[in-house]
Amino acid sequence: MRPAAFRALRSARCGLLQSTSLVERAALGSIRSLNPGLSSRPGARLGASVSRHRNFSAPAQLRSEKSEEQGQEVEGRKWSTPLAKQLGEAIGITGPVPLASYMRMCLTADIGGYYTGAIEQGRDQFGLKGDFVTSPEISQVFGELCGIWFVAEWMAQGRQSQGVELIEVGPGRGTLMDDMLRTIQRFPAMANSIDAIYMVEASPELRVAQKNLLCGEDAPMTESKVGYHSVCKYNALPIVWTETIKSIPISSEKMPLIMAHEFFDALPIHAFELVSIPASQTATPSPSDTSSPSTKTSHPTLQWRELLVSPTPEGSTHATLNTPTSQSHHTPPPDFQLTLAKTPTRHALYLPESSPRYRALKSTVGPGALLEICPDASLYASDFASRIGGSPQHPKPKPSGAALILDYGPGDGTVPVNSLRGIRHHRHVSPLAEPGLTDLSADVDFAALAEAATRASEGVEVHGPVAQGDFLEMMGIRERVEALVKAIGDGGGEEKAAKVEDVKKAWRRLVDRGPNGMGKLYKVLALLPEDNGRRRPVGFGGDVAA
Ligand code: SAH
Repeated sequence: MRPAAFRALRSARCGLLQSTSLVERAALGSIRSLNPGLSSRPGARLGASVSRHRNFSAPAQLRSEKSEEQGQEVEGRKWSTPLAKQLGEAIGITGPVPLASYMRMCLTADIGGYYTGAIEQGRDQFGLKGDFVTSPEISQVFGELCGIWFVAEWMAQGRQSQGVELIEVGPGRGTLMDDMLRTIQRFPAMANSIDAIYMVEASPELRVAQKNLLCGEDAPMTESKVGYHSVCKYNALPIVWTETIKSIPISSEKMPLIMAHEFFDALPIHAFELVSIPASQTATPSPSDTSSPSTKTSHPTLQWRELLVSPTPEGSTHATLNTPTSQSHHTPPPDFQLTLAKTPTRHALYLPESSPRYRALKSTVGPGALLEICPDASLYASDFASRIGGSPQHPKPKPSGAALILDYGPGDGTVPVNSLRGIRHHRHVSPLAEPGLTDLSADVDFAALAEAATRASEGVEVHGPVAQGDFLEMMGIRERVEALVKAIGDGGGEEKAAKVEDVKKAWRRLVDRGPNGMGKLYKVLALLPEDNGRRRPVGFGGDVAA
C-alpha cells in the first residue's frame, strides 16, 4: 500500500519537478559521496565516523585549575582569529565564561561569528566548499515531503482559507523553504490561504541568499522596525525576515506552520558535571555552632558544577592539550579549554533543578553525571507552542497550526551529554579551536523540547520523536524517488543512468538506518493542537485526513 502522504500528493496531481534541478542537487550529493571526507559531513555533523555522544572526551579536555589560571595571562598572545582575541581578552577581565556564552559568541557574534561575522567575505557554510551539507541540500525530495506534511496538517485541521503563516527558523540557504513552497503551490487552496512567510535568520549573508532564491536577485529588500521585507516569487507572498522569533507578531487568528531543520543544534548549551563535595567544604560553621566536627564531615553533598571556557596556556600544542584523535589536528591548537567551575555558578544553581529529568540524575547516575541544557531551545519550543495552542499571555480559543522539528539527538528521552562538536571543511575539529571559523553544534534534547512546549501551552500535544528514515518512508519518499527516476527516463545512456544513480544515492543517504546513517540519527518531532492524541499526524503513523 502506498504511504498515505504519497497518495495525497498523487491525488492532488502534484506534478513532477524538472529533472534538471533534481539532478544538480542530487549530483552534488553524489560528489560528496565519492569523497570520503565530504560524504561524511551530514552524518559527520552527527558523527558519521565518530560516536555521536563522544566527539570529545570531557576528561581529556578538562584542564586542572592551575592551567585555567595560567591561561588567563593573555598579554601579547597570538590568537587564531579576531574573535578568539576578543573572547580571550574579555575572559581575562571577567574570568572563565559558561560554555553557552562561548558558543553564542562563536556562532552569532557581530564580529567574526560563524553565521553572522564576515571574516571571509562570500564564505558559504554549506556544500562542497563549505563545512557541511544538510538534508535539503542533499535532495529536493526532503523539502517536498516536508511541504506535503504541512499540506496534510492544513487539510486535517479544516482547510482554513486564510490566516496561514509559514515560519522557518534557521533557513540556511533557503533551499528547504523553496522546495516546500514549490510543492505547496500544487495545492492552490492551501497556497491561497497563506498570508505571509516569516524567516528567522541571524545571518545577514544568509538572509540575502534566501531573498535571492525566494524572491529573485533583483527583488528589493526593505527594512522596517520588525525586520526586512521582500516579495516571494510564489504567489507574490510577503516575506519578513527577523532575527528572533519574538519579533514575529502573535495573533490568535493565525495558523502558524513552523519548520525547524538543523536549527536547534546551533543554539548555545550549558554543560554541567555532578560532583561530590565533602561536608567540610559545604558547611561553614558559625561561631555559635556547637555541633561536633564528625556530624559536619560525614555527609558529602552532590552539587552541579558548570563547565567554563578559559584560554589555554600559551604555547599549548594538540599534544599538551590531548586533543582527541577523533578530532582533526589540521587546526591550530585550541585557544580555549573547558574547566570545571570551582563554585556553583548562577546557572548551576537553577538550570539542573528545572526539570525532574535532570533532578533524577543525582540518584540514577550520581557523582560524575554529565548534563547539557539548552535554555534557548526551551524558549523557542515554548514560543512555538503558545503560537499553536495559546498561552495565558496569548489566549487562543481554537488552537491551530503545527511545528515540524528535525534535528539530531537522543530519541529515547535521555539527556544529551558530551555532545558539543566542531566541524570545519567536512572534518571534526576541536570545538575550542579557531572560534568563528568552526561550526559548533550539539545534540538536541527532544524530551526537553516536548516538556517546554507542553508546559507553555495546554493547547498543544507532541508526537515523536521518530527516526528520520521512518518519517520519510511514511511520507512516501520511496514512491517520490521512483517518480523522479521515471521522469529522468530509462532510455539508456550513461548520463541518464548517472542521474538515476544520483537520485537513488541521495535517497539512500537520507533514510540510511545504519548506526551513523542520517535516517537513524536525525529525529522528527511534531507539535500539534491538543486533541487528546486522537489523531496521529502523517509521518508519525497517521493517515491523511480527506
Ligand atoms: N535549515 C538549514 C540551515 C541549518 S544551519 C538547512 O538545513 O540547510 C543553521 C541555520 O540557523 C543557519 O541559517 C543559521 O544562520 C541560523 N541560526 C543559527 N543560530 C541562530 C540564531 N541564534 N538565531 C537565528 N538563526 C540562527
